[in-house]
Amino acid sequence: MIAPTDRTEPVAELVDGLAEHIDHVRRYHGRLRQRLRAGPRDRRLERLARQLGQLAIVSQQLVDRATQASAGQAVPRDRIEAAARELAADPILAGGDYRCAYCGRDLLGDVETFSTISRDHIVPKSLGGPHGPRNRVPSCCACDRLKSGAAVENVADARAVIARRREFRTAVLEHVRQLVGRDP
Ligand SMILES: [Zn+2]
Repeated sequence: MIAPTDRTEPVAELVDGLAEHIDHVRRYHGRLRQRLRAGPRDRRLERLARQLGQLAIVSQQLVDRATQASAGQAVPRDRIEAAARELAADPILAGGDYRCAYCGRDLLGDVETFSTISRDHIVPKSLGGPHGPRNRVPSCCACDRLKSGAAVENVADARAVIARRREFRTAVLEHVRQLVGRDP
């Protein structure tokens, strides 16, 4: 997956990266504490757990500060225009008319879809699919996720896989809604 606005939002990118890092730290911190509760006393691990806990807190403060600092800051017009020109000239996206090759969704329809545009490898890279534009199509985030590493050879195969997986996810979704009492 690619984030088309990466180059226009370095701060947001950094903050996202740091937020992800905090998640990892918190997870390790939790596991370490679990381990400490379950096992015999280990001062070295206790110290490590304390340090990880502090690291998570300090990192979170940094993220909060960076988020506050970037809020309300206008993005310079030239950066918006440069990012737009780059996307408008993208051969893979333009070649697919900025629509998802699998479900037809308009990738310029709303900011959520636009922000998660993929240039999907039809034959997955993990299965030796080439990186060039002939093996790439524009895709929405949902189709990209549903298709994942499926062993397909062309767009038609991929559509079939995605349709099957979408049907499965739809059934799961309906069931979860029932279980948690959410109206459809
Ligand atoms: Zn799609």
